[in-house]
Amino acid sequence: MKQAMPRALCVLTAALLAGAATAEEKVLNLYSARHYQTDEALYADFTKQTGIKINRIEGKEEELLERIRNEGANSPADVLLTVDAARLAKAHEMGLFTPVRSKTLESRIPAHLRTEDWFSFSVRARVIVYNKAAVKAEDVQSYDDLADPKLKGKVCTRSGSHPYNLSLMASIISHQGADKAEAWAKGVVANFARAPKGGDTDQIKAVAAGECGVAISNSYYVARLMRSEKDADKKAMERIGVVWPNQKSTGAHINVSGAGVLKHAPHKEAAVKFLEYLASDAAQRYFADGNNEWPVVKSVKVDNPALTRLGPFKADTLPVGNLQMYSTKAQVIFDRVGYR
Ligand code: FE
Repeated sequence: MKQAMPRALCVLTAALLAGAATAEEKVLNLYSARHYQTDEALYADFTKQTGIKINRIEGKEEELLERIRNEGANSPADVLLTVDAARLAKAHEMGLFTPVRSKTLESRIPAHLRTEDWFSFSVRARVIVYNKAAVKAEDVQSYDDLADPKLKGKVCTRSGSHPYNLSLMASIISHQGADKAEAWAKGVVANFARAPKGGDTDQIKAVAAGECGVAISNSYYVARLMRSEKDADKKAMERIGVVWPNQKSTGAHINVSGAGVLKHAPHKEAAVKFLEYLASDAAQRYFADGNNEWPVVKSVKVDNPALTRLGPFKADTLPVGNLQMYSTKAQVIFDRVGYR
């Protein structure tokens, strides 16, 4: 995720506030922490279908939450769109969202992927990638396996303070309790090939290069490399295997990107329309075919060779709204065991 530029943001806010003053026109002010190129097509399609223009402010996740809180009742923001369930749940806890009742959203999005005031629109899974020459597939079938002393000196991950890992840890706490989860985290740290650094793509490349034997990554980074035309990426992908973790137990940990309507939204009707659009077949296909995520709407057919190659999997059905409950605990444990 790229850095936000505060000055540009200030100018944009002024523009948005001016826009709010002239009201009534068909606009939607979207605060987004998703920075994927394919999202452009998504917004353009919404405008084409509804005539509602989107003013977008992009920022880093935590920054946007703070900003909406600070703007309070004067906030021009209609919708917050972001990645990671724990962050969405945090926005809920901060009281930023307003409940939305929509038959469309309720019928199209499975219950464990929505709450009363925020909704998931795409799913990503945390998968295990391993170096086929260094590690046996049967030794890395679950997240638990990553803590097995058999993998000493082989495990790589990004930082323990990153929400992707905190949400994974939150799910482990939820399933196994804090004590077992702490023992797991300790075991993973003892198996590190190197101190955590870089993003998920860096871990995949380090596994391919043999610097690490095994790593955890979000599925869309794996899919992106699978679809890459670059020779180096193709070679890297030949060296690694991908495992769907926990298929015999809880299912693979999933995370989401999602959105909610903000409490002080000046254009509430347009905001609900936007959420309903995100659950439409067309929008769902943008997430899947463009950004290699899975649709939340089951009936949507995707056309993405990498997702097909990754194949079907059993996903954890833990309600995504529950992850925030354990994410503070997850951070405390990671700090204690030195998972930085
Ligand atoms: Fe990401």
